[in-house]
Order: sequence, then structure tokens, then C-alpha cells
Amino acid sequence: MLYIVLPCYNEEEVLCDSIAKLTAMLDKEMPQEAVRLLCVDDGSRDRTWSLIQELSQSNPRLLGLRLAHNVGHQQALWAGLEAALPHAEAVISIDADLQDDIQVIPRMMADFRAGSDIVYGVRRERRTDTWFKRTTALAFYKLMQWMGCESVYNHADFRLLSRRALAALLSYPERNLFLRGMVAQLGFRTSMQYYDRSERLAGETKYPLSKMLSFALDGITSFSVRPIRLINLLGILFILVGLVVSCKALADFLRGQTMPGWTSLLISLWLIGGALMLAVGITGEYIGKIYTEVKRRPRYFEMERAGDNWENS
Ligand code: UDP
Ligand code: MG
Repeated sequence: MLYIVLPCYNEEEVLCDSIAKLTAMLDKEMPQEAVRLLCVDDGSRDRTWSLIQELSQSNPRLLGLRLAHNVGHQQALWAGLEAALPHAEAVISIDADLQDDIQVIPRMMADFRAGSDIVYGVRRERRTDTWFKRTTALAFYKLMQWMGCESVYNHADFRLLSRRALAALLSYPERNLFLRGMVAQLGFRTSMQYYDRSERLAGETKYPLSKMLSFALDGITSFSVRPIRLINLLGILFILVGLVVSCKALADFLRGQTMPGWTSLLISLWLIGGALMLAVGITGEYIGKIYTEVKRRPRYFEMERAGDNWENS
């Protein structure tokens, strides 16, 4: 049994199309496989859930899971993965807007049959993304790498996980999710499938710049303590510079050449003040992470389910 998990947040414009395309592809390419399409409605405020209910009436493959509140892409995906675990031999996660090429799905299954536990969907190029998205994404991957977080370049959340890889992933207790980093740490037998990413079918991105930035920050602070080390280095550097400056100031004083020196004083005051603030801020970022982890709050609440084939799947 293969589960395809689609997190959906306000996707009324693309959902019907996406399900139709997936169903057509499955009928054509993998008619012999038992497949479920699991749509996780991440607290949408539009007609997404009623569409899922409606579609599940005529489409025996379709299952719906409705979360009580919008918890974000990564947590919604997690909810779907957890729901799939008891029934699935393998799970594929893919965005509901089908920007990722669904023709890769049969190839992923072939890799899985050949023994891969994790098959990464990797974008060959990003011609359809805007220049801005391309450059910021590239900068992000490079930064992550430099920070020491393993990740697969140009791979997002389009991937296949075997049951044992899925069980391993779901055993992570943390609340701050950065799934692509966590999956990269699992190990097991992996392989890659390359594809071209296309444009969103309809509707607009649910990842505005603010969400992208907070996702990037989450990724870095969940996977790397390097920023804290950098602060320490910066602190040592500042102390060294301070020592040199003190020596010079003392020498000037002893020779009776005290300068009016307001400019240098003011500049250093601001620079050091800024560095301190930055340091406190970055440290605070980690303390915030500890805070959310320690609370161990539930990740999401399930509200209702749709589809007739939940049990006998
Ligand atoms: N999504 C979600 N919850 C959110 C935001 C997004 O479940 O709070 C889903 C969304 O429905 C889509 C996927 O996450 O299936 C990726 O979002 P989107 O395509 O808007 O991001 P982009 O491709 O622009 O990075
Ligand atoms: Mg998208």
C-alpha cells in the first residue's frame, strides 16, 4: 500500500485539478498498485475541506484528514505521515499545487521496489521560479551547508519514505520541524530522482517571504549551534581589539596627548552595542527553541476524516 500525502492550506483553486491529475496518472502508470491519496486540510478557511469530502465520495482512493487549526506545512505533513504509518508500506509527500512532477512517482516506486528506503525528488533547475525565489533558495541551501546541516541540494518535501524510514522519522520527539534536515540524518538506503519543477497550477503561494524567512531560521536554529560559536568568536575578537585600543589609549594618556576622540568613542559604542544585541538575539533564538521543546505541546488536533477506505487500507 502506497500513501501519497498532500498538505492543503486554502487550496480550493487547485485541489480538484491536482486530484484528477494524480488519479489519471495512477490509473495509467500504476493500475496494479494499491494507492491512497491522503489530503491533510491544514485548517483552511476556504472550501478545501468540503471539496475533499465531495471528491472522496466518488474517488475510492481519496482520504481526507482535517486538522482543527492551521499548524503550518511541516506539521500538517507530519500529521499525514502519522496517519499513514499504520497502513502504508511506503509514503510519498508532495505539495497540493503539484509543482513537483508527478511522473516521478512511478520512478520513485521503482527505486523503492529495488530496495531504497528514501527516494529524494530533486529539482533539476528552477526556470519557473522567480529570480528572487531562486536566489534566496540557493543562498539558503549554501548557508545551511556552511552551518553544518546536512541537506540534499534542491530537494524540498517531495520524497518517498519506506515504512522503516517513516517509523524512524516519526520517532523524533522534537516540535520544531525541519523535515528535510531530519530525513537527511536518517541514513538507510537512499536514491534520487531528478525532475523539472513547474509553476503552481493556480492560486498563489502559501509561503510568503515572512514564512520563508521564519522557516529558514527554524532550519538553522534546529540543526546547528554554529551561530552560538560564531558569537563566541566575535566576542573574543572584540576583546582583542579592545585590548589593542586600550594600550594605545593608555600610551597616549601617559604621553599627555589625550584626544578629544568623540568620533571613535561613539562609533565603538554603537558597534559594540550592536554586536551585543545581535548576540543576545541569537542566543534568545535558541532559548526560544528550548522553550517550545520543553513544553511538549501537541503538534496538531485532528477534527474529522473523510473517505470510506480508512480502515481497510
Ligand atoms: N501549506 C500548508 N500549511 C501552510 C502553508 C502551506 O499545508 O500553513 C501547504 C500548501 O497547501 C502546499 C504546500 O504546503 O501544498 C506548499 O506551499 P506552497 O506551494 O504555497 O509553497 P511554495 O511552493 O510557493 O514554496
Ligand atoms: Mg508550491
